[in-house]
Amino acid sequence: MGLLVVGSVAIDSVETPFGKVKDALGGSATYISIAASYFTVPIRLVGVVGGDFPKEHVRLLEDRQIDLDGLQVVKDGKTFRWGGRYHYDLNVRDTLYTDLNVFEKFNPVIPEGFKKSAYVCLGNIDPVLQLQVLESLNKPRLVVGDTMNYWIESKPRELAKTLKAMDMLVLNESEARLLTNEPNLIKAAKKIIAMGPKIIIIKKGEHGALLVTLETIFSAPAYPLENIYDPTGAGDTFAGGLIGWLARTDDLSGENLKRAVIYGSTLASFCVEKFSVDGLKDLTYLQIQDRYRSFMQLSRFDER
Ligand code: AMP
Repeated sequence: MGLLVVGSVAIDSVETPFGKVKDALGGSATYISIAASYFTVPIRLVGVVGGDFPKEHVRLLEDRQIDLDGLQVVKDGKTFRWGGRYHYDLNVRDTLYTDLNVFEKFNPVIPEGFKKSAYVCLGNIDPVLQLQVLESLNKPRLVVGDTMNYWIESKPRELAKTLKAMDMLVLNESEARLLTNEPNLIKAAKKIIAMGPKIIIIKKGEHGALLVTLETIFSAPAYPLENIYDPTGAGDTFAGGLIGWLARTDDLSGENLKRAVIYGSTLASFCVEKFSVDGLKDLTYLQIQDRYRSFMQLSRFDER
């Protein structure tokens, strides 16, 4: 069946009060793919990098069994570079630079062999490109998409069209409010359901995530960690864990969506424990299961 992932592949430099990393592997498609790779194969990544993209980054993705046939390499171009600095409150970050480089002209060409993927995760790219990707595919079973403030404000009409073609939208709380002009998150989610996607996941950072469908509201906590080093990519990792689980089980029932949200939160909790993808690259299935189970203990209590 397979999972198709489309998005950015980047070289990140990040500073937090607890350390820093330079020229590390980043990008939305990277985090989504690595997280999902713990649950399903094949993962098919579509993105673009320049001739400067380090071989060790390619090796890391290949070691996770990610199919890179759709990773375009523009030999005389430079890879997308992003720099960010987090405050003591890790919810606050300044973007130091966004050098789009080859990503500016990214035209996601889906290799023939990828078009039958049953599961699709569209990282946060131009909604016009997201729709173009979807139109080239052969009836996927589930399309999950991400977006951001920038597209909500600059391309609202194009985004509205793309939303109609998505089954699930994953976005953070400020994006949900901006998209709907609605401060209450449940009402906002219902408004988004009316725009197209029938499953809405609102990420609330260290406060967890909310799953809203017409039948269900499910609130998942974030894992209470004592040591968080780098929140970069947590949202993408969450989406990757979530869709990876759905692709593995091929079960879109309400109960399994809840499990998927907890698996997404589980992977995100590993992501933030180290810089870049270091917390994600060498996990074992047992570690993931252990943390998944401790999630269940987090909000379980006796009725009496
Ligand atoms: P997040 O922490 O979820 O915002 O994701 C951070 C990742 O997104 C980093 O690895 C960046 O390389 C990547 N990124 C930052 N800005 C953009 C952008 N405008 N488009 C696509 N990816 C981006």
